[in-house]
Amino acid sequence: MKNGICPMCQSNEVYMTDDNNNLGEEGMLMFYGYVDREMGAYASDLYVCLTCGYMALFATPTVLKGKHKELTFLKEARDWKKVV
Ligand SMILES: [Zn+2]
Repeated sequence: MKNGICPMCQSNEVYMTDDNNNLGEEGMLMFYGYVDREMGAYASDLYVCLTCGYMALFATPTVLKGKHKELTFLKEARDWKKVV
């Protein structure tokens, strides 16, 4: 999906939300992770195939009040667990 090709129908008519996307109340679908007093904040990029309607969400680290953590930060975050 991120390469511009829909995994369902192989169309190249894939569009995504930009930095000022319209997901959620604050403009981004946000979620968080916490390790001790550190916080990682993440937004979501939504990809939509205009041909078949397939949608995919991808998490992306974001800057929120000066905090910025990579996705791997969630390995140590409380309230997050690996799917096994
Ligand atoms: Zn498609």
